[in-house]
Amino acid sequence: MATLLVQMGHAGRTAGATGAPGEQELTVRLGQAAYARLHGRNGWSVVLLKADPPTSAYRGDAFVAFHADGNNNPTVAGASVGHQTAQGRDFAAAWKQHYGWPGTWHPDNYTTNLSGYYGVREAVRQGCRRSFIAEVGTITNPADRAFITAEEGIAAAVDAVGAALGIITQEDDMQAMEPVISPITGKSIGAFKDVTFYTNLYANDIPAIKAMVTELIAGAHDDLDAEAVLARVDAAVREATAAAIDGTVLPALRAVIENVLGEDNAEQADAIVTELAERLRPAA
Ligand SMILES: [Zn+2]
Repeated sequence: MATLLVQMGHAGRTAGATGAPGEQELTVRLGQAAYARLHGRNGWSVVLLKADPPTSAYRGDAFVAFHADGNNNPTVAGASVGHQTAQGRDFAAAWKQHYGWPGTWHPDNYTTNLSGYYGVREAVRQGCRRSFIAEVGTITNPADRAFITAEEGIAAAVDAVGAALGIITQEDDMQAMEPVISPITGKSIGAFKDVTFYTNLYANDIPAIKAMVTELIAGAHDDLDAEAVLARVDAAVREATAAAIDGTVLPALRAVIENVLGEDNAEQADAIVTELAERLRPAA
C-alpha cells in the first residue's frame, strides 16, 4: 500500500499563520474529500495531516499540501504550485494538467512561501521526494473563490491528485458508466474490457460497439433490440466523449498551441482551439 499524505493548510492553528479567512475551512474540506475519493483506491491509502504534525508523520510516498491564496486586493487572482525536487515538479505539473483550473496560473515557486514551503521541505527530508504545495486558487478573488469552494472545484483539485498519481485511472472513468451499461446489457462493464470502446471513447467506434452489443445480448436477452440498446450506449459514449474532450483534450491542445504561437498571438490560438473544439466534439 502506498501512502499519500494530504496536508490541510493551516488546519489546527488558532494563532500564528492561520491562513486567509475561510482558508482553513476549505483545506479541511479538501482533505476530507481526498480521503473520501482516494483512500483505499488502486493500492493507495490517504493520511491527512494538519498544519503542525510530528516530523515522523511526513513519511509517505507522495505529499500534497492544499492551500488557497489570499490578498488584500480582491482583483488579484490565480492558482500556483511550489516544489523543491524534480519528482515534486513532475507531480505538480501533472496535477496542474488534470485540475481543469479555469483561472490563471502564477509561475511555479513564485513566492518564498511556495518555493520554501516547510511541509514540502519536511516531507523531502523524510524521504518523500514526490511532494508539492498546491494553492488551489485565490480565495479573496470572487471568481476564484466561486470555483474552489464549490463541490465541483473541491472534487477537481482532489481528483487531479488522484489522476497525477494513477490512483484514478481511465478504468475508473469507465466504471462510472456501469449504471448506464449494466441495466441495458445485463453485463458488468468488466465484460467490455477487451473491446475497442473500452480504450477508445470516440463516437466513430459506434459500428464496433454495435457488433459487440449484438453479440452480448444474443441468446441471453432475446427481448432486447440491438438498435435500441445501441442508441443508449451511443448517447452515453457521446456524453463521455464530449466530457473528455472539454475536460482533457482541449485544455492540453490549448496549452500546446499557446506555447507554440507565443503570448502575442492569443487571438489566433483561441481561433484554432475553437475550430478544433467544433471538429472534435461528437455530432449530436
Ligand atoms: Zn495558506
